[in-house]
Amino acid sequence: MRKRLIVSAAAGALALLLTVPASAAQIGPGAAGIGDPYYPNAGNGGYDVSHYDIRLKYQPATDELEGTATILATATQDLSRFNLDFVLGVKEVLVNGRTAKFASTGESELEITPARPLVKGAPVTVVVRYADKPGKVERGGYSAWLRTPDGGVAANEPEGSAWWFPSNDHPTDKATYDVSVLVPDGTQAISNGLLTGQSSRAGWTRYNWRQTKPQATYLATLAIGRFDIRTDTTPGGLPVVTAYSKDLGDNDGAARASVERTGELVDWLSGYFGEYPFGSIGGYVPNVPTGYALETQTQIFYSPAQFSRGSNTSVVVHELAHQWYGDSVSVQRWSDIWLNEGFARYSQWLWSEHENEGTAQELADYVYSSYPADNAFWSVKPGDPGADHQFSGAVYDRGAVAIQALRNTVGDEKFFQILKGWPAERKYGNATIQQFQAYAERISGKPLAQLFDTWLFTASKPAVSSAGVPAAAPAGAASLAPGGKGAPQEPKSWKKIQETNSLHEHTH
Ligand SMILES: [Zn+2]
Repeated sequence: MRKRLIVSAAAGALALLLTVPASAAQIGPGAAGIGDPYYPNAGNGGYDVSHYDIRLKYQPATDELEGTATILATATQDLSRFNLDFVLGVKEVLVNGRTAKFASTGESELEITPARPLVKGAPVTVVVRYADKPGKVERGGYSAWLRTPDGGVAANEPEGSAWWFPSNDHPTDKATYDVSVLVPDGTQAISNGLLTGQSSRAGWTRYNWRQTKPQATYLATLAIGRFDIRTDTTPGGLPVVTAYSKDLGDNDGAARASVERTGELVDWLSGYFGEYPFGSIGGYVPNVPTGYALETQTQIFYSPAQFSRGSNTSVVVHELAHQWYGDSVSVQRWSDIWLNEGFARYSQWLWSEHENEGTAQELADYVYSSYPADNAFWSVKPGDPGADHQFSGAVYDRGAVAIQALRNTVGDEKFFQILKGWPAERKYGNATIQQFQAYAERISGKPLAQLFDTWLFTASKPAVSSAGVPAAAPAGAASLAPGGKGAPQEPKSWKKIQETNSLHEHTH
């Protein structure tokens, strides 16, 4: 896709040379996508965003959302035109203070033509005014805005931001955020980071939220409804913000018994992953009918269904692990999703180990023996699952087996050094699986190409388990065949971990 765009842009430039001065010939439109093979239209080319200032007014009774987004960016090429990713109705666009032409095109592109072309390297301020009912705006029969009886929620992966603010919607363009939301008195608004102000006037209350650390667009979240918001600090002084819909019914106790352990669990994970990268942590449970949870940065989204069978600290561990593996260090391309989900799942295995409910090795053996070689589970390559299988079980479970295989290959000392060193190495950035492999090879001093190829990039069941036990054990030896003599017992934590599998359930 990227290659095709480069070719067509070159051809366009050549045609222009015939009619306009050479200096103007370089100016062209920015690409409609940032170049991600899984999602060709995700993100945009030609600029880099540093900050989003999102000012909203929302009426829960009617689902009417009005907004003004002020976007600070830098042009990375000369631009006659550029795109934002957005699906709501736009009323006005200004670029550097001047009225700009705009058009909604394709699935989710907002094409903006500034009054004057943008010069490479120059700062750009874009103001977009909009108003719509996000629950009514569908793409492919689907709206990413989760309507609730008392408001609405935006929390989705890999896309969701287009239903509440215009952006460069790809993890490689991170930015800081100010989100200010005006809602009727008695209703609360929640977003990422810290609540820096709250004021009421004439029946409406404004909530100001601030995220000062780089954040990918899909990790930005917004929830409006009637919430009980709690603030606290961990023993180490990290602010903790949690919120619960006042409408959780029978799930209320289990939700609080899980999410209120956030501070304890983030401290526990710091022991494995190193210093927590952000300025606050928390989570919220709105009254949505969905089943998944999502690692929205510092303010984790949990569906109440995650707590419908009682408390679940395992899902909290999973989403907290993402703050290092996914949020601070983000995918370079969506095909690198194993760097998020493999490690978040493995953190649940470490928690199981800590709780004496099965070791990571036992869980790896159980995954390995649970799926026969002809099961479709093994046809998904966790290292390049394809957009349709980005959130398949194999990315999580086989992905975590891959990590156990790495642990067995390099030994515990080097393994835990890698686990802790990687988030520091790539803090607030992006990375590919190949870069992780190179890092693991550097730290361990071992060649790992074959290991990565076997566990992440082969569409079949590896012939040896993570512990190096051959699948077809010689007669008389313990067999790892499912149900066979010596097949691993189901670890105690297994069911609870599987319950978290509707995390990131891709709804369209
Ligand atoms: Zn996850």
